[in-house]
Amino acid sequence: MRFAVTKVCGGGAKARAGMLQIAGSNIETPALLLSTRKGLPAFVSRDLLASLPLPDSLLLHVCPTHFMEGPPSKTISNIGGLHHMLGLPDHILIAAAGDSIESLPTSEASNKFGASFETPAGRRLVKPSDYMELISCMKPNLWASLADEVPAWVTEKRNKVSVERTLRWLDACIALDEDSGANTLGVVVGGSSIELRKLCATEVSKRNVSGFWIGGLGFGDSPEERCSILDAAVGCLPPEKPRVVSRLGLPGLVFQVSVMSLVQKDTSRIVDSCSCFTCQNHTRAYLNHLLNVHEMLAQILLEIHNTHHYLCFFRLIRDTIKTGQFDRFRQQFVQDRRAYLAAAVI
Ligand SMILES: [Zn+2]
Repeated sequence: MRFAVTKVCGGGAKARAGMLQIAGSNIETPALLLSTRKGLPAFVSRDLLASLPLPDSLLLHVCPTHFMEGPPSKTISNIGGLHHMLGLPDHILIAAAGDSIESLPTSEASNKFGASFETPAGRRLVKPSDYMELISCMKPNLWASLADEVPAWVTEKRNKVSVERTLRWLDACIALDEDSGANTLGVVVGGSSIELRKLCATEVSKRNVSGFWIGGLGFGDSPEERCSILDAAVGCLPPEKPRVVSRLGLPGLVFQVSVMSLVQKDTSRIVDSCSCFTCQNHTRAYLNHLLNVHEMLAQILLEIHNTHHYLCFFRLIRDTIKTGQFDRFRQQFVQDRRAYLAAAVI
């Protein structure tokens, strides 16, 4: 894996564009990491993945804890790893424990031995050795270390414990890794504490990692807090390495809201200018019918449209960074979105 920053925006946003060279693909950043359920995006089957824009849609987040209920990790290993099992040899699989839907971190049940997750198969305690066994069998392109993620409302004492455990588990994961951290993203935690975020980022930077995963967001922190937390953490990370930010709220709702206001017998597309599979093949009236009869195909078609727009949104971000227009674009986007949501509420 190689990463190079290609452009840094001069404005207050500190945005940067880069190129990630990994597994024979060149991925421009910032890029969207698609979340998955057992390796595939929810509602998008393997054959339909090809309808999403490439190479933007090659990055998939896989959650090792999803595979604790089966198949056995040895079976995945015997098949040759997750790429082979999923039939996705060209996709870039980035593993990180826990997500915000199926496999939630439960900090109150975590202890000094490992992190606890609430999964469809029950509550599981995952030790660094269990986690690395999964990673070694799954063979993702990159993997985030095991972390003790805590919500924003925990005490400072518990937050400190979270940072200390996360650093200790990072060292344990690297010690157990066949590649000694060459494909590792060190997780940065610290809750809402600016000081602890800085401390954790500084300490993780000292380890032999190829990039960073900024975790512990989306657990009770406000959007304003999130900006300060990210500023603090990113300021302590080396600029030449890639970073992944998890659980950020993005404006998907805008598209969902526009879809849910479908009008029956409307033979137009969801978005006239959209080149996605859904808009090219189906009308609003058909989608409205599918929603009314609770047909699962509605979710599949909407997921394809929404994912397509997320990927185009990131392409727009990259283009505005390259042309030095990012600050203005961001301000205009936030302003337009507020106006849109206000009008939708009325
Ligand atoms: Zn579309």
